[in-house]
Amino acid sequence: MLIFVGVVIFSLIIASIATTIIYRKELQQSLEASLIDSGKQIIQTYQSTEGAELVPFMQNASGISIFAIQIYDSEGRALLSGEQPPVMPEAELVRRVLAGAVGRGVENHENYPMIGLPFEDGGRPYALFVILKSNSLLDDINNAIHTALLIVLVMGSLLILAASRYIVKPLILLRDATKRLAQGRFDVQIRSKRKDEIGQLNASFNEMAIELAKLDRMRQDFVANVSHEIQTPLTSISGFTKALKRMNISEESRMRYLTIIEEESERLSRLSRNLLRLSTLQIDHSPVNVKRYRLDEQLRKIVIALEPQWKAKGIHVELDLSSVAVQADEDQLSQVWTNLLGNAVKFTPEGGEIRIRLASVGQSVVVSVADNGIGIPAEERFDIFKPFHKVDKARNRSVAGSGLGLSIVKQIVDIHGGEIRAESGPGAGSTFVVRLPLRHEPGE
Ligand code: ADP
Repeated sequence: MLIFVGVVIFSLIIASIATTIIYRKELQQSLEASLIDSGKQIIQTYQSTEGAELVPFMQNASGISIFAIQIYDSEGRALLSGEQPPVMPEAELVRRVLAGAVGRGVENHENYPMIGLPFEDGGRPYALFVILKSNSLLDDINNAIHTALLIVLVMGSLLILAASRYIVKPLILLRDATKRLAQGRFDVQIRSKRKDEIGQLNASFNEMAIELAKLDRMRQDFVANVSHEIQTPLTSISGFTKALKRMNISEESRMRYLTIIEEESERLSRLSRNLLRLSTLQIDHSPVNVKRYRLDEQLRKIVIALEPQWKAKGIHVELDLSSVAVQADEDQLSQVWTNLLGNAVKFTPEGGEIRIRLASVGQSVVVSVADNGIGIPAEERFDIFKPFHKVDKARNRSVAGSGLGLSIVKQIVDIHGGEIRAESGPGAGSTFVVRLPLRHEPGE
């Protein structure tokens, strides 16, 4: 507000200085012209009035016009008295006018123009000096200008006061909303119909609040999922431990209970490993150890490493691998193929078939892992990449998964600048297609 008023005052000062500079000369000239005209008229009237006496005539003329006048005789003596304001040209100027020239000077204290006109009366030279009475027209003009400027200042300040409320009010709303957001209340929304910058700021704020609310919900879901995934094995461990404490228990049951406890502990340990991996991957924005290696060899090694699992289910694995070298993080990609192949084995019934293909297409490599297992319903094909998402929770208990595998896969593919999609129909098997750039550009 103060800055705005300061700007108005500054502009007014500059405006008045500028107008004075621009118009002073013109004003001066037109004033001089009108003074000369009036002087001549007074002289003419005097000379054409028969029997008029010089001093009384001039005294009268001075009283009735808006000009103050003074006349000087050939000795340089002022003949009129009692004039307000006094007209006091310099003696030198009076001499020049008496000698017959038109004199131009300035009236001392107000800086207004003054002119002197020579004339003769009864064969003797006289000088008539004319100035504008200082309390007349010019003062009125000045006053009018000053009043106008004052009105501009007052009105401007009032309007700025009103405008600043208009600007500050939405900022106060925004500040309050931000405070509420900082206190964790993500349901805050600012209602505004404005389309200007403030309106856009409000819209961005609302968007941010919605996104934060979503993030908060995701965080809560995540925590709920983690505790559920921890709780389930812990319940069964504690249940079977209690059962083991009973005395009359057959050797066969004891072994079964212990096996379950062992499996559930392993599941817990796997869960914590995967959680840690996922959170590390979410912090990293690029692969850690990038180097050049043969992707087909890596795939072959992983198929061999998982042989006990697919052999046990009598699954046939078919490979169609072109020899391709990539620049990527070998350990991270190894995790990708292990998870994809592990899933294919898990979700393919005995005697099924898995096909792994590797081909380079332009600047990318495409790896597909296809099985002829239970498939994934179309509406689940995006969600399976979210943490803890399982297509059929009941079904999965038997195959020991926590729903983190594909999230880890997607995270790794993302930070390598690639993409992954699932193609499948229920009953028609699933195909996971991974496209990776041949070389990883840092910052991708
Ligand atoms: P999980 O540890 O449960 O396997 P994932 O994140 O690896 O977790 O997979 C998420 C879900 O996606 C699985 O629970 C399963 O329902 C579905 N899924 C993954 N791969 C396949 C596949 N090859 N065939 C059928 N369903 C699959």
